[in-house]
Amino acid sequence: MKFDRSEELFERAEKVMPGGVNSPVRAFKSVEMTALFAKSASGSKITDEDGNVYIDYISSWGPLILGHANPEVHKGVMDVFEGGISYGLSTKKEIELAELISSMYPAAQMVRMVNSGTEATMSAIRLARGYTERSKILKFEGCYHGHFDGLLVKSGSGALTFNIPTSKGVTEDIAKDTLVATYNDFKSVEKCFEEFGPEIAGVIIEPVAGNMGVVEGEREFISALRKITRENGTLLIFDEVITGFRLGLDGAAGYYGIEPDLVCFGKVIGGGLPVGAYGGKREIMSEVAPLGDVYQAGTLSGNPLAVHLGLNLLSYLNRNPQIYSQLEDRAIRLEEGLVEGAKSGKIPVTVNRVKGMLSMFMTDSPVTTFAQVMTSDTKIYARYFKKMLSQGILFPPSQYEGLFLSAAHTDEDLNLTIKANVNALRLAGE
Ligand code: PMP
Repeated sequence: MKFDRSEELFERAEKVMPGGVNSPVRAFKSVEMTALFAKSASGSKITDEDGNVYIDYISSWGPLILGHANPEVHKGVMDVFEGGISYGLSTKKEIELAELISSMYPAAQMVRMVNSGTEATMSAIRLARGYTERSKILKFEGCYHGHFDGLLVKSGSGALTFNIPTSKGVTEDIAKDTLVATYNDFKSVEKCFEEFGPEIAGVIIEPVAGNMGVVEGEREFISALRKITRENGTLLIFDEVITGFRLGLDGAAGYYGIEPDLVCFGKVIGGGLPVGAYGGKREIMSEVAPLGDVYQAGTLSGNPLAVHLGLNLLSYLNRNPQIYSQLEDRAIRLEEGLVEGAKSGKIPVTVNRVKGMLSMFMTDSPVTTFAQVMTSDTKIYARYFKKMLSQGILFPPSQYEGLFLSAAHTDEDLNLTIKANVNALRLAGE
């Protein structure tokens, strides 16, 4: 397999774009390769600039639950173009999308559209602070909520309350208002509440984490979060940017049977166009401008193209709920195949799966905590990734991302992937 064109393009890109990319993970640094440049995609397959074709498990990092260039999602898009693609005025379809989201996800009694997952979490945090008139936010190590300053913080070694920015440019002043607790460890949450309870505006969590690989929030843990936030007048914020309308029609809230106070969406709700949304209880959302005093706005928010695709996709999912059991069946097959393949090789593999979401870790320990995630061997994963790629299988170039299955992945795709896995594990272990 040759990557000449991609390498040429990467060299060119590096001169005018930081790291040659518009989002770091695309640089393939973690697997010590140059970026792949996509040329086109259809269904489960993506073709790069060198003409290599891959079965794609990145799926644009989540939005493409029906696969690439799906006609149901793109339906009518030329009519939108012809009618004008941005007005700076409201459109009827924005109401339809908000109504649809609200009907699928009852905790989102009101919805505000934004342009990315980051904007959604950033705005939800501002709203939580404005509504509660408190300053601190509690997040969990290993969860990613976008690149908003206040959430680019991880716990400092040893002490939960001395938190450090994970990016240059995030000041210590900002970081000090972000508390970081341990995922699936309720004691660490209690400790934060004991010390700072009346100051904590919101607890934000990926109920099923997708950004340290797939790690399921344990049911008792999620319900304990619901309880402690309620007791302390703190808002519980579900970041469902990945899980929203991927885990099921009612997201992680439905999976756990727990209603958050606020929720953040992205990815699936835009069908592949730049989009995000946040929503929540009417009383809280009523604090958002122009109704209330929490300011948040967007020139392109509720953009007709993005809303059109989002409506197409969510309506399709509503009409075809069997998609979710199909996705889960495929995920189970893949899980079984990946695990079975590992039995004949030297590399330890643990696969985590929740419904249609799954990821593999190169470790023999079970993975339910961030510390266990860290036992996974990223060097072996990098070798494994390349061996999969050379067989035409595009896994995420990072150990800490989930595999994004879509309805377009066929039995044949899965068979090829499972077969390639056996070879890749053998070769990566040599
Ligand atoms: N929250 C979660 C759970 C995410 O996975 C992501 C993106 N991977 C974000 C927020 C940020 O979304 P965006 O990249 O659209 O800003």
